[in-house]
Amino acid sequence: MRQERVLVAGGGGFIGGYLVRKLLDDGAQVVAADIKPIEDWYQSFDDADNRVVDLQSLDACEDVISGVTHVYNLAADMGGMGFIENNKALCMLSVLINTHLLMAARRHDVQRFFYASSACVYRADLQTTTDNPGLREDGAYPAMPEDGYGWEKLYSERMCRHFDEDFGLATRIARYHNVYGPHGTWTGGREKAPAAICRKVAQAKLSGDHQIEIWGDGEQTRSFMFIDDCVRGTCDIMHSDIEEPINLGSSEMVSINELVAIVEEIADVKLERSYALDAPKGVRGRSSDNTMIRDRLGWEPSTRLATGLEITYRWIFDQIAATPAGTLLPKAAI
Ligand code: NAD
Repeated sequence: MRQERVLVAGGGGFIGGYLVRKLLDDGAQVVAADIKPIEDWYQSFDDADNRVVDLQSLDACEDVISGVTHVYNLAADMGGMGFIENNKALCMLSVLINTHLLMAARRHDVQRFFYASSACVYRADLQTTTDNPGLREDGAYPAMPEDGYGWEKLYSERMCRHFDEDFGLATRIARYHNVYGPHGTWTGGREKAPAAICRKVAQAKLSGDHQIEIWGDGEQTRSFMFIDDCVRGTCDIMHSDIEEPINLGSSEMVSINELVAIVEEIADVKLERSYALDAPKGVRGRSSDNTMIRDRLGWEPSTRLATGLEITYRWIFDQIAATPAGTLLPKAAI
């Protein structure tokens, strides 16, 4: 059991909620901070010290970090491709959160600082074909990351590195690859592919209208990491001696068409597919090379996609079934 006082920035978010629960279960005292009203947090826990604050403000960061030994920064203004391609300035403004958290962490003698980076830092020219062999950690430079969101992540990674080198603040950085699971965004425009597809399939199943719209030609490839693997990897990386950014993702690569087929099988339905070729699609192919995490931690995310999707689909199906008819965005808007 660890006697730590921990800040989870973005504790009202998808991954943050699970991390808060895990740290509480491990015996830590946890401050959970998020800008959203607490009723909008995906999960909140009475045994955490829950704060509603805007962490773009240095004063707010100083306030929540006071007395804390370990900081996990998961706070960011972000979403799936549909959001990040259309909100680049908002994505880049998250640089204020990480910068002010680092400054406050330094002033308050924090022992360790974790930053949630992303596979969006990798060079675009390494992701132009569907048969991507997996992105290695050395593939972020010379820099050509995802515009907006990816640039912010890459810059914030370097800020962490220099706070470590220049000021002795121990920083740890994981590059998350597409995380999915229950208690995450599944509608509204910020959701990512697994949740969006689970929602579309569940809606088709419930309505009897057996059609699905897929963004792009569906041949683009990705890997998806189940939330349990993400939380375990986050804690292990935080407490490791790994000072450089490291991939935290699954290496089970599928096309979006294959992803749809897996969810169809879970739902026991077959849908007629149409393709929105001008919708945001992101890079052509992306997966995680897990050589480094296997070497350094002797472990890698390994929950099978079909297993994690089954759990996620059931949760999203229940959310839709509990939502008054007509309150979801129309299909064509997402
Ligand atoms: P999320 O959107 O569910 O959680 C982020 C949280 O940050 C939200 O609850 C949001 O309200 C909060 N936030 C935003 N601006 C804030 C501010 N100014 N002050 C305080 N809180 C603020 O996202 P998530 O999926 O849980 O992602 C967590 C982290 O992991 C993010 O940094 C994200 O960029 C990174 N990441 C996630 C994925 C993924 O697939 N989910 C992939 C790569 C990287």
